[in-house]
Amino acid sequence: MPLFVDTSPPGQCIFCRLVAGEIPAARVYEDTLTIAFMDIGQVNPGHVLVATKRHAATLLDITPQEAAAVMQTAQRVASAIQATFDPPGITLLQANGREGDQTVFHFHLHVVPRHAQDGIALSWPRKNPDATTLQDYAAQLTRAIAPTP
Ligand SMILES: [Zn+2]
Repeated sequence: MPLFVDTSPPGQCIFCRLVAGEIPAARVYEDTLTIAFMDIGQVNPGHVLVATKRHAATLLDITPQEAAAVMQTAQRVASAIQATFDPPGITLLQANGREGDQTVFHFHLHVVPRHAQDGIALSWPRKNPDATTLQDYAAQLTRAIAPTP
């Protein structure tokens, strides 16, 4: 994961400044709720970030409308990446919280063109709990899940 961490206060973060045009960016697309621009790190050619225009730190802080808009923009960008760079795979990555590997605390989603042996590693240790435990987790989440708006 990148080592850069943006510690700017909310509203002055680098993505807010980018949205405001105060710092340069290679913009790809924008609409009323979202903006898409080239990630300066470019893991592979065509690596794009989709961010909300409004400052919101994480997935838990954006509205359902912003969540939908971000995914729609990500799909449009992914189609453009496929047409332009023709990668054999595309990965979406969205990180929340320092422990979740978020480094800029303004909601964003990576759209990453993928190639074999491109150096990206995402793995986790499987814990494989028993079926009863899974049912218990599901029941807890079902009780906590917000009703459909
Ligand atoms: Zn911001």
